[in-house]
Amino acid sequence: MPLPAHLSRFYGSGLTSQAARDRLVERLRDQGISNESVLEIIRQTPRHHFIDEALENHAYNNTALPIGFGQTISQPYIVAKMTEALIENGRLEKVLEIGTGCGYQTAILAHFSNQVYSIERIGSFLISAQKRLEQLKIKNIQLIHGDGYLGLKEYAPFQGILVAAAPPEIPRSLLEQLALNGRLIIPVGDAQHQTLYQITRTRNNFESKILDKVYFVPLKEGLYT
Ligand code: SAH
Repeated sequence: MPLPAHLSRFYGSGLTSQAARDRLVERLRDQGISNESVLEIIRQTPRHHFIDEALENHAYNNTALPIGFGQTISQPYIVAKMTEALIENGRLEKVLEIGTGCGYQTAILAHFSNQVYSIERIGSFLISAQKRLEQLKIKNIQLIHGDGYLGLKEYAPFQGILVAAAPPEIPRSLLEQLALNGRLIIPVGDAQHQTLYQITRTRNNFESKILDKVYFVPLKEGLYT
């Protein structure tokens, strides 16, 4: 029996099929992603649902893709790497994501935490991300139109903060909103050189570990309306 159109788009076919997702997961494993639950959620999440239909056939390539307004959906390897680093100590209670974009990383994070708050400065991204996440019946998320430089004081502290755009240096507000033993995963740098950091809040200080060299769009100040 053929699936209703809205469901068949989730499951995909050809280059958006389960086989294409399985191949992507094998590639991520080859690149060093070892957390099985992260790999499984990437296997289950329809990345093609988050991008323009015209680009659907590229959804399971391990590359960033344009999503409009000069922004990109992050490369699957980076999404996996950041998620793995964020949840190293297990499931998280509250997570803050900065840079919702199309909502793909938000969907992944929703599986590993009780509640995800996600901030985006471009209003129209929020509308489409909200719709896509609702269609996938992901409910433990709250999308907020705001400036990620400020974090989200009213819901702090967070056990995890993940930033999907690069500031020139780590915003102090994000460090302040991290819970004890909480993790901040953040790219830092300019357009040429960026480093992905894992920052852990300890009792008296912060510990920092370099995860990778990366390339993200810049974290911009203020709202885009
Ligand atoms: N995880 C997203 C990444 C999108 S790219 C995805 O996979 O689709 C980074 C996003 O960060 C863009 O949508 C951009 O608009 C947003 N962004 C940049 N500066 C921001 C800021 N100060 N506050 C909130 N979002 C910001």
